[in-house]
Parts: sequence; C-alpha cells; structure tokens
Amino acid sequence: MVLKDRSRVVLIPCDTYEEETVYEKIKAGIGLLGGIENLVTPEEKVLLKPNLVRKAELSRAVVTHPSVVGAVARLLKEAGVKNVSAGDSCGVGSALSTAAGAGMDSVLKKYGVPVVDFTGMGKVSYKEGVQAKAFFLSKEAAEADALINICKMKTHALERVTGAVKNMYGCVYGLHKAKGHTQYPSADSFARMLVDLNRLLAPRLYVMDGITAMEGNGPTSGDPVSMNVLLVSRDPVAMDSIFCHLIDLRPDLVPTNYHGEKMGLGSWQEENIELMLLEDAGTDSSSTAAGRARAREITVKEAFERYGNGSFRVDRRRAKSDFWVRLGKLFNAFQKKPYILQDKCVKCGVCVDSCPVDGKAVTFADGRKNPPVYDYKKCIRCFCCQEMCPHKAIQVK
Ligand code: SF4
Ligand code: SF4
Repeated sequence: MVLKDRSRVVLIPCDTYEEETVYEKIKAGIGLLGGIENLVTPEEKVLLKPNLVRKAELSRAVVTHPSVVGAVARLLKEAGVKNVSAGDSCGVGSALSTAAGAGMDSVLKKYGVPVVDFTGMGKVSYKEGVQAKAFFLSKEAAEADALINICKMKTHALERVTGAVKNMYGCVYGLHKAKGHTQYPSADSFARMLVDLNRLLAPRLYVMDGITAMEGNGPTSGDPVSMNVLLVSRDPVAMDSIFCHLIDLRPDLVPTNYHGEKMGLGSWQEENIELMLLEDAGTDSSSTAAGRARAREITVKEAFERYGNGSFRVDRRRAKSDFWVRLGKLFNAFQKKPYILQDKCVKCGVCVDSCPVDGKAVTFADGRKNPPVYDYKKCIRCFCCQEMCPHKAIQVK
C-alpha cells in the first residue's frame, strides 16, 4: 500500500567529523524537513538523546560523535531554545563520564548545553501500548517537552541493527533496562516494546550518525567502518529502513522496522519513503545559491550504488519461522548464543553483572580465576552480556 504522505528521509554525504562541516550539512538537512524552528519552540525544554551506551574511545564508533550532537545543539541555540540538555541511561557507567570520555561535554559546553545523568525515575502508563502498557522512564526524558534522537549507525546482536528506534531504549531508567529484556525476551516482543516507547515519547526529530558506523559484533564490540553519511528524518522506521538499504539488508528482517510499520510508527517500504539526497548544503557565501541547499529525490537503488556497502558485516539470514523458533527453544538448539573468547577475557565480571536473568545465566562457576561460563538453559538470548563486555571478549554465533 502506498501512503498518501510519504516519509521524508534526507541522505547527507559527509566524510568528515569536522565540526563546521557537520553543522552546515545537518542544518541544510533539517532545513529540508522544515527547519529546526518548526520542530521545537524557544520555550520548550529539549532533551538530546545521543547513543552513550558505554565509555569507549571515539574511534571505536560505539557512541554518537560529539560533532553531530554539537551541530543539533548549536541549531537549537540559534533558534532561541534556552533549555537544552543531553543525556542517556548508559549500560555501564554514567552519561557524564561517557560523554567526557568521548569529548562530547566540551563540544556541548560551547553552546551552553549540559550533559545530565538521569537521576530520577517515574512510572508512565501507556494504555495505547501494543506490547508495553507502562514504562519506567528517567525523569529527564519523561519531563522533557521535546526529545531529539541522535543515534549511531551500528549492528546489534538481537535486532540486527541499532539505529533510530532502538536508541530510545536509553530513556528507560537504569536497572529497568535490564528487566525489560526478561519481560520482552524475543527479538519481536522487544521490538514491539521499542515501537511503543517511540510512540509514547514521540521524538520530534531523528538524526543518525553514519559517518563512521559499526559492523560485525555490534553494538559495542564491532569494528568501525566508514559509511560517510548522515541521515535525518521525522520517521524513525523510514530512517532505519534507509540504513538497511545502504548495507544491503532487507529492511523487513529488522523487527523494529516490521513491527514499526504494523504499529503505525512509520514506514519501511520504499514506495512510502521520499529519499532526498543533499547534494550541496549551500554554504559557499560567494555563490548566488548561498544558504540554499540543493537536493533531489533518489531511489534506494541509486543510494546504495553511490553510498552503500554490500560487504558491511551484518546478519542477513532470513528470520526463522515461529515453528523453528519454538522448536529451537524447546531443545535449546538452532539459536544464536553468546560465547566467551577465552584469550580476550580479563575476568572482570561485567557480563555477569549485566545478565538480567534471576540467578544469572552467566557466572563464575569455575572460579574467579577462569572466564565466566554460560548456562544456556537459563539464557534468554538478550545479549546484554555481549553488549556490555568492555574487552570484545563475547561473540554471538
Ligand atoms: S565482561 Fe568480557 S572480559 Fe569481562 S568477564 Fe565477561 S567476557 Fe570476560
Ligand atoms: S547470559 Fe547473556 S545473553 Fe544470556 S540472558 Fe544473560 S545477559 Fe542475556
């Protein structure tokens, strides 16, 4: 079915994190969505939600790059928005230390935008929820008038990719993030919960940092890869779908896309997406076209041919039917599993701490001098351990 109003996604080629360049390009891209001043008002309290999942060197592509977050912060300040902050509920550590580790705090400081740790929590009912009828949200996210999601282009063990829709999970407060995995243990139920969360919080704008993306063992232990693009949109499903097209992954294999469209969050189907290529941000002041971006609509085929990466390492296998999933669960077989690479493990115990299952599915059963071991009968395949291991010592196979 072709929708009457297609979702616009702006594809912005960008091969540098140089702050001024990123700012000009993001400004032009958001201009193609009507401009930041039409998305928020100066009186509103705005929360920027970058991906700050854990502290890591910037070059590892674990967190959203400060130049991208800084560009959005600067645009908001230029639009007269006074109350702007940035925050996340990190998997390990605090937003303050993670942002400092990435140099994000000093970039945001230039625009008077503080990084905040999520300190309080409130239960928010959501009667309209298809999967989740309530969320334990951070106070800062719940009390913001407007959210702007500034995500990172990465692979993900459970949902294949993490982009716009998945990034909102950082608004769930602290330990409730881990609990959510036991409440919604399958990729489908977790995706439906994420879609509910996006519908509830309804960010005004989504910006994806894909200048350097992460492939392979994402979202924290993969490898950085240059994709040299930024994406902006108001539709997170359409944005994630374009991310999929750029890495030659069928968009409907990503549960957040499939359920996102079914549940009315957005559109993953190509015919319902208006993909605009920003060809010129219009930054040359000597040009008569100064200040005016030049853009044209392109097909996903052209986008892939010009900016895609068919060898991007991501899970492209077809999803198993419910029958095989049920059978696999019954016999604890045919399912992806986390494995510890013994030579990389430093026995820090972060994986054990992050396992949300009662009684733990990964423990130091062989003593603290040996790497932890899995009890796959207990394991719900949430892959929190793989996501949180700071030493790239856990793989999902
Ligand atoms: S988190 Fe990684 S390094 Fe630490 S004990 Fe677990 S597997 Fe080993
Ligand atoms: S062992 Fe890892 S994948 Fe299994 S339930 Fe615990 S955290 Fe999740």
